[in-house]
Amino acid sequence: MTDRGKLLTRLFGTPGGSQPPGRIAETRNLRLMQIFWASEAALLLGAALTFATGAPSGSVIALGAAAALALVPVALRRGHEELAVIVLLTVQVAAVTALAWNAQGLRDEAMLGYPGLLIFAAMIATRRFFVTLVICVGICIATMGVAEELGWKIFEPSDTGLLSALIIILIIAVISFGIGLLSSDVSRLLASLTVENERYRESQQLLEHMAHHDVLTGLPNRVLARHRFDQAYAQCRRFGHSLGVLFLDLDHFKDINDTRGHEVGDLVLIEVGHRLQELVRQADTVCRVGGDEFLILLSDLEGNERVARVADRVKESLRAPVTVSEGEFRVSASIGISIAPLDGDDFDTLLRKADMAMYQAKGEGRDGFAYFDEALDTAIREQLQLLAEMRDGLGRDEFELHYQPRVRMRDGTVVGAEALIRWNHPERGLVMPSAFIPLAERSGLIHDLGAWTLRRACTDCADWPMANGSPIPVSVNVSVPQFARTDFDVQVQAALAGAGLSGDLLELEVTESLLIDDNQGFGEKLRQLRELGVAISIDDFGTGYSNLGVLQHYDFATIKIDRSFISGILENEASRTIVQTILSLARGLGLDAVAEGVENDAVAGALRDAGCRYAQGYLWSRPINASDFRSLLGNGGLGGSA
Ligand code: C2E
Ligand code: CA
Ligand code: CA
Repeated sequence: MTDRGKLLTRLFGTPGGSQPPGRIAETRNLRLMQIFWASEAALLLGAALTFATGAPSGSVIALGAAAALALVPVALRRGHEELAVIVLLTVQVAAVTALAWNAQGLRDEAMLGYPGLLIFAAMIATRRFFVTLVICVGICIATMGVAEELGWKIFEPSDTGLLSALIIILIIAVISFGIGLLSSDVSRLLASLTVENERYRESQQLLEHMAHHDVLTGLPNRVLARHRFDQAYAQCRRFGHSLGVLFLDLDHFKDINDTRGHEVGDLVLIEVGHRLQELVRQADTVCRVGGDEFLILLSDLEGNERVARVADRVKESLRAPVTVSEGEFRVSASIGISIAPLDGDDFDTLLRKADMAMYQAKGEGRDGFAYFDEALDTAIREQLQLLAEMRDGLGRDEFELHYQPRVRMRDGTVVGAEALIRWNHPERGLVMPSAFIPLAERSGLIHDLGAWTLRRACTDCADWPMANGSPIPVSVNVSVPQFARTDFDVQVQAALAGAGLSGDLLELEVTESLLIDDNQGFGEKLRQLRELGVAISIDDFGTGYSNLGVLQHYDFATIKIDRSFISGILENEASRTIVQTILSLARGLGLDAVAEGVENDAVAGALRDAGCRYAQGYLWSRPINASDFRSLLGNGGLGGSA
């Protein structure tokens, strides 16, 4: 848009400034046309007046100018607004100059037209055209002055006072009309700017508020909490006081959200926010820092008793059920506490420590509070360190797979092998999976670690010699989060393809916890894996929340009876019954059963008597490294050691 366009846009915008561009152009053209008609009327009237008073040359000039102005609507209709403005102003400046030159020169009434035209030009023309027009007008005036001075032209003074008065009135009327129109537009612009400014200020304030407050509860958010902390802590330090940070996390809030919907969850959060705010003093701060997480900053503590008192009061106040239209809800919170300067003196450290203590409170059974303590910090730091080392270890190929043979109890033939991961740590030595798999699962590293395990197990297995004329399948342990990943089947397929291994030589061991419900799309995933020929076994059977119903719905291959039942089979009646029950269940469903952790002949004998066909355990072999396992197969298996 041109400068003039912008100016006109500003001029003709209505209050609120929300005129669509079409309306703005329309108003602009309307103003140009109004000024055009006023000018035409003035020129024609002027022509009539001068003609009537016997000055036909003036009439000719006025009529010529009126005719030339007819170009203005033509240009406008064709969309050349800038040209229309130029024609409008140029023709009129030329007309004024010609009328003055033709009559009384510098003393002519027409001279009054110049300032009016220049004002129009300033308002509606481009800056460049305005300056040009000023210069032209200056040159015209100077030319008339010089011509008169040097006697090139004699300007006759007029003696018709009435005509002069009429012409002056005419010129002033046109100029007033135009300026009146434009100045009303300017006033409108100013009014609209004021409204805009007001709106801007309001939205600034709103943004400011939103940046520092939680939209749902209206409580300060984390950003403002940090600011308040800095202020309060500076004050505390001045008087040697301490500051308490209480980190609250509602217990089982997810259940309310999941079962009653987010609207109800929101109402509960709002109510909790209210209650917390009523518990603290003016100088303290309650903030909402996350979904169901709140923070209370208690300033000016002279001892730490008030912290415990407030924590107790929080528990107490949440005890009353929260009533929303959908019913009553009981909520409780776990609270972690850190204290400045005891536990640190910056917001992030204190928040982190209070958060850790909150987890401690959750671990201690929820609906309670716990203070941060250093030992907790050390434990968490160690876990973080271990995690970092695990990541590095994966890159440095420090992990290895050991294999434990699965044997047929009748004759001790090797019929398979379970891959068990070990970490060959440069300083810690051989680290067993129980020391790092849970952490890998919590941190998500299990995805990379699990993918590596799958690939390695498949490549090893593809390279194993046959035993008694049959290839030996490999079993790989799969964690729940691994299985839950949508692309898990793709990962398995890639591992098989990469190793050139047939799917029916791979078995995946999953635990019962996967079977609790089907919300992870378990059935569909199982079907896809079965399509690849991959078998699925249920690991540690009997220890989880077995939903026996699922056994008949899904296509499992094997049940692995947990070691805890096997080891007690001789002495413990209950274990014996459980093992017998699992074995007959498996038989009934046509599944293989594998006894885990068989360490001696007596146990093996009891299992054989109970009809158990397959087993694993130290009795036959501990898990051994990949090359030893390969040699074992090459040497014809375990040599019937049992
Ligand atoms: P699990 O799947 O139940 O594996 C069997 C565990 O019992 C192995 O411990 C094995 O060494 C041990 N074991 C075998 N026979 C006997 C025996 O006769 N007596 C005794 N006392 N123990 C025996 P390990 O290797 O320490 O593995 C522990 C657990 O770590 C495994 O339990 C499995 O849940 C997990 N795990 C191992 N490797 C992997 C892996 O690659 N991925 C995943 N996600 N988990 C793995
Ligand atoms: Ca296993
Ligand atoms: Ca097991």
